[in-house]
Amino acid sequence: MRLKTLATLTSVLATCEFAFAATVPLPQPRPKLAPAAAANSESTEPSLCRQRLTADLAIAPSLPAVGGAGECAVEDVVRLEAVVLADKSRVALTPPATMRCSFAEAIVYWVREDVVPAVRSLDAVLGSIENYVSYECRGRNGVAGAKLSEHGKANALDVASVKLGNGTVLGLTDLHVARNFREGLRQATCARFTTVLGPGSDGQHENHIHVDMIERRNGYRICQWDVRDASADAAEVVRVPFPRPRPADIRDASRRKSSSRQEQK
Ligand SMILES: [Zn+2]
Repeated sequence: MRLKTLATLTSVLATCEFAFAATVPLPQPRPKLAPAAAANSESTEPSLCRQRLTADLAIAPSLPAVGGAGECAVEDVVRLEAVVLADKSRVALTPPATMRCSFAEAIVYWVREDVVPAVRSLDAVLGSIENYVSYECRGRNGVAGAKLSEHGKANALDVASVKLGNGTVLGLTDLHVARNFREGLRQATCARFTTVLGPGSDGQHENHIHVDMIERRNGYRICQWDVRDASADAAEVVRVPFPRPRPADIRDASRRKSSSRQEQK
């Protein structure tokens, strides 16, 4: 009797165990959760760049992807409103610039490590970076049908000037701005960005500096920014409107322009 009961109990337990094992397959919850988690990480997990670009470095809220499905489609985009310096003060981007996160990061370090020290050498404080264009879906130099500009990839910025804390505006291409300041900034800027175009590049960048982070084979870089000398050019600048209107120069300039369109922005 006792043995029979034990046998029955064992049988029941075994059945229960079997039933438990049969009704609750162990791997089941995982497949259900795993794809959801993966999808979740794709859609909401911040990029590594986004994780690096913290509030200690920049005021740069994330934007939805721009450009739709066209050739100017860019993901991981931010609106760079200000660069935050080590002392927590802010250098505004005026106007705020739409750019891919990785390019915003380059601009942040350019401001912190290159522009701020350059301005400090003038015994001044940097207030803002005044720019013309950041993201814009267009061909290079605004030419329809030309190769897509880095502006169309949210990977470029046209910088006009820097504004000091006291309101003084220093144009980066202004001959009246201290030459040492412009030359120092040119060297630092060309060391940081893979393309730098300014006066003397192609006639399209006489009043601003274009910087971008295009990737080229073999690490090839373009640094074309003539830092002109105010004292040497002063008499000529007063006499001759810029650019110089001689027909020969105009022909040269247009030839340069058309050839440079193949190579540059
Ligand atoms: Zn540009």
